[in-house]
Amino acid sequence: APKLSLREIGKRYQIGSNTEIEAIHRVSFEVMENEICVLLGPSGCGKSTVLRMVAGLEEPSSGAMTLDGRQIEGPGRDRGMVFQAYTSFDWLTVQQNVEYGMRLQHVPAPERARRAQHFLNLVHLSKFAQAYPKQLSGGMKQRVAIARTLANDPEMLLMDEPFGALDAETRWHMQELMISIAEETQTTILMVTHDIEEAIYTADRIVFLSRHPGTVAANIVPAFKLG
Ligand code: ADP
Ligand code: ADP
Repeated sequence: APKLSLREIGKRYQIGSNTEIEAIHRVSFEVMENEICVLLGPSGCGKSTVLRMVAGLEEPSSGAMTLDGRQIEGPGRDRGMVFQAYTSFDWLTVQQNVEYGMRLQHVPAPERARRAQHFLNLVHLSKFAQAYPKQLSGGMKQRVAIARTLANDPEMLLMDEPFGALDAETRWHMQELMISIAEETQTTILMVTHDIEEAIYTADRIVFLSRHPGTVAANIVPAFKLG
């Protein structure tokens, strides 16, 4: 059975009072357990929209989505999201950042610290546990974000252009790291990118989104309907 399944998902946005845009048109795909699935397509084709719907941050206009066979309804701790922009809390140390979600879940302090250290170790940042995000490079900040998200023990990791702001060499190291983390933690990953090389290098499965109809896996038609 697939880990994640999208069937005939559509998304319309209301723009102004009498204009509607169809951002996503009948997109169907599946992601298997422990796969890295990459959503690939040009800017504006609807990749982030798909990811936000899987995250439960937006509701599809039509179609059905399931995770482990259960209907996706709203956000949940079973899906962890990593964004392109660094989202760490600058006033907390690296370790406190990683502990943040566990703190909200009232995980006891020793357990929190133990888990934080485990995930910091996984992203090669053990030595920076007491540093502040401002003291870190872009790649390191993104590793903090990954550790923080994994520390919440998600079933699935959702990543929106996670390495898009990094230089080419750092990006390549991060791709390597992501692949090894996926293997080690047995986490299923859905990642959005417009970088074809990144997709080919990291993906077990690529879902192509296009702005035009008649493409491989999905047809995205930006349609304007005048009321
Ligand atoms: P991508 O991630 O592939 O760059 P997006 O998912 O961000 O694409 O956007 C897909 C389309 O949906 C674009 O035409 C964009 O303008 C539109 N869109 C995205 N979010 C909204 C929104 N909140 N309101 C209106 N239109 C939106
Ligand atoms: P304690 O563990 O005794 O609460 P800390 O030194 O860890 O003390 O934290 C002091 C304050 O800093 C907390 O009351 C909280 O407001 C904030 N803080 C520290 N770590 C975190 C974290 N991981 N997430 C959110 N807030 C934190």
